[in-house]
Amino acid sequence: MRACIDIGGTKVSVSLNDAARPRELLARRHEPTAVTGTPDAVALQCIRMVDQACAELGVDPIVVQHAAVAAPGPFVLGGGLTELATPNICGGLPGSGRQLPNDWRTALLEAPLLRRFARVRVENDAVAALEAERRWGALQGADHCAYVTWSTGVGCGLCVGGRVLRGKHGNAGHLGHTFATDDSTAVCGCGNVGDIEALAAGNAIARRFGMPAAELFAAARRGEVPALSIVDEISRVVGRALYNITALLDLQRISLGGGVFLHNHDLLLPRLQAEVRGRLPTLTQGCELVVAGLGDRVGDYAAVALLD
Ligand SMILES: [Zn+2]
Repeated sequence: MRACIDIGGTKVSVSLNDAARPRELLARRHEPTAVTGTPDAVALQCIRMVDQACAELGVDPIVVQHAAVAAPGPFVLGGGLTELATPNICGGLPGSGRQLPNDWRTALLEAPLLRRFARVRVENDAVAALEAERRWGALQGADHCAYVTWSTGVGCGLCVGGRVLRGKHGNAGHLGHTFATDDSTAVCGCGNVGDIEALAAGNAIARRFGMPAAELFAAARRGEVPALSIVDEISRVVGRALYNITALLDLQRISLGGGVFLHNHDLLLPRLQAEVRGRLPTLTQGCELVVAGLGDRVGDYAAVALLD
């Protein structure tokens, strides 16, 4: 038995997995993410939830020694071990957007987990989703590929030559925080002005255009011209980001997920494809954009896809 842990800004999901049935999630449970107490509170919450899942299944917790964790970035290393520097969890970060009841500069993760489990693998949640899409979704058989989530934020997992890219701290693929414009009205939660997330993510749509994303897309579907031009604008921002990673990494396939994209792929996919296709065809011709094969369940399979 292995432990699968998905940490989000609002909730933590934990399940157990039997090595003989790699895609099955057992005794799955969710809780709001711990944001009070000591900086190891999230890790201790995960450990308690794993032990509770063991109790539910009648499994001795001692047999669960391997844990896979999908977590939001950015990561920092403390003593060589991964800690979370996530603005939605750590209230002590400069410019932290939310009023959080803690002053953590990081949330300890790998170190406390290694006191409980013999083996721990922590990856950025978009990297974990990429692994899930490569194993069971739309990226099967693709050695040069990316998974891009367009949701509350914008994130990305990258794979070149069959190797998933991690970077020096496990932060490779923070596509949402790459710059796109000088627009001083587009301020990201990370502090950047004019990055992709500040221009086009779900929360940016509400902030910049004065209506929730769902309302915007409904108006666009009714053919309302102002809404359609906003959809064109944000598609150009994200589409250019997709072009950029295709040109940088010579990709063959990009799988797209996340709430904003999945609920509106009828409107968004053709626009995104138009931003990539036809531009420097030598680089873009062999690259296809597709809807995530696992659909809105990509997140459910993120952590379990990290187990080998
Ligand atoms: Zn940012």
